[in-house]
Formats: sequence, C-alpha cells, structure tokens
Amino acid sequence: MPELPEVETVRRGLEPALKGHALARVTVRRGDLRVAFPLRFAERLADRHVVRVHRRAKYLLLDLENGETLIMHLGMSGRFTIHGANAAVKPGRFHLNTPEDGSGNGKHDHVVFETEEGTRIVFTDHRRFGLMALENTTTLDRAPMFLGLGPEPLDDSFTPATLSSALKGKRTPIKAALLDQHVVAGLGNIYVCEALFRARISPKRLAKSVQAERASRLVPAIKAVLAAAIKAGGSSLRDYARADGELGYFQHHFAVYDREGKPCPGKDCKGKIKRIMQSGRSTFYCPSCQH
Ligand SMILES: [Zn+2]
Repeated sequence: MPELPEVETVRRGLEPALKGHALARVTVRRGDLRVAFPLRFAERLADRHVVRVHRRAKYLLLDLENGETLIMHLGMSGRFTIHGANAAVKPGRFHLNTPEDGSGNGKHDHVVFETEEGTRIVFTDHRRFGLMALENTTTLDRAPMFLGLGPEPLDDSFTPATLSSALKGKRTPIKAALLDQHVVAGLGNIYVCEALFRARISPKRLAKSVQAERASRLVPAIKAVLAAAIKAGGSSLRDYARADGELGYFQHHFAVYDREGKPCPGKDCKGKIKRIMQSGRSTFYCPSCQH
C-alpha cells in the first residue's frame, strides 16, 4: 500500500500538470472503486479550474474554483500516469504488471482527466481499493475521512509536546499508537518501524511511557524518515507480495523494515534485526538498541 511519502511524491507529480489548469473533460469508466463515485461526478468536474493540489494524510486534494475539493485515495494499487502536453512530468509511479499504452483505455484505467491543454491524466487501479469523493472545501475538516484525524507528521504543529500529550494514558504498544490515525495522520507500517529504530525506541514499549526525552527523539525521527523517503522520490511499489501479504517496496533502503536476521545498521550495535507480529502486522526492530 502506498504510504505517505509515495502519496506526497504523486502530489508533486500531479501539481504542475493540474494546478492553474481547467479540467476540460473527465471520463469515468465504471460506477465505483471502493465506494461509488459521487453523483454526476464527471459533470461536476468538467470545466473546473484546479486552484490547489495538496494532501492530507494519504489523501490527494484538488481544490476547484467552484468551492469543491476532489478527494482522491490510491488505495492498494492506484496510480496516476500523465500523457500528452506535460508528459515529461512523472507523478511518482507505482509499477504494476499491467500493460499501459497511454490511451487511458486499459482494462484498469478507470478515470481519465483531460486538461484544456490536452494533457491526459489517467487513474489506473486494478484492485479498485482507491477512492474519489467531492466535498466542500471550507468544511473539508469535517468530511468523514478527516474528522478526528491527528496532525500531519511533517507540519510544524506536530511536536514532541503534541505527541506526548496524545500518548498520555495509552496502554497500547507505541507501534500500534503511531499507526492510530487519531494520534498522527498518514503513518503506515514501514515508516513507523523505521522511525522507532531511528529513535531507538522499542515497538513494544507502552505508548504512555513515550514522554519527555523519548518523545523529543521520536518526533524528529518520524519527520526525518518521511523526509528522506520523499527526497528519494518515494519508494516504488511493485506487485509482489511477501509471505505475510505485505507489499514490497523497491528502490529504497530501509534500516530495519523487511531485514529480519540482518545485522543492525546502528552505529556500534552488534544486534540482529528481529521480526515480530503486532496487531497482525510485521514489526521489524533491533532488540539490542531499541528500548
Ligand atoms: Zn541495533
């Protein structure tokens, strides 16, 4: 599943093709993805100018000049490709083993956006866990998917103080707490493992005990692993599944994720990376230097 850095990479790819441009035509090839498309979806988007391309958690947001926001989620396998006038722009592609000729007529090409300049942006999603919705821009925070969502990890508002306050009294392991979208938005399994390693905090530690000095290590660690992945252009997702069903990420070096049995990359640490199951997901960590 694409994580926050991948979604941010897609956002950066889409922005130059869409911001300031009008959607001349939108073609929707089916009635639903994970849920039904909004009523008269294509019609409501046609001729609208895109004024802003932003992101909240793992949702891509296109603010339109008529006061509505198009909300898009990549789900498990959603991806965008750009063809035509702005084809040089690459929107952080997620490679899957599906043929693609740029026509937008592929079996899994479900939505095609065409701008007035003739740029074609194709949304392809062979598993159809993606989502598209329309909400009023001014009340976006109250839309069902954003209600109660925690702070953006890369925002200045996400600080050791806000994190330790969100963790107060929580008796779950810190790993599970960081995956809780009310605590912090958009973090997934991979980057939580990586951030805990960087902060030298055990994934099994009770969340409520991550206060003061530990929170001061964890928050910069979260920001740093996300920033590094975004800088690397997001890791490319390939359509292969590990034994536990987790999708693999290529072209990105992880310190602990998917490195069971390998030597710990920590300075002066002789430990080996261990894999445990927590809430049904794999956790990778170094028992020697994460406490
Ligand atoms: Zn170690």
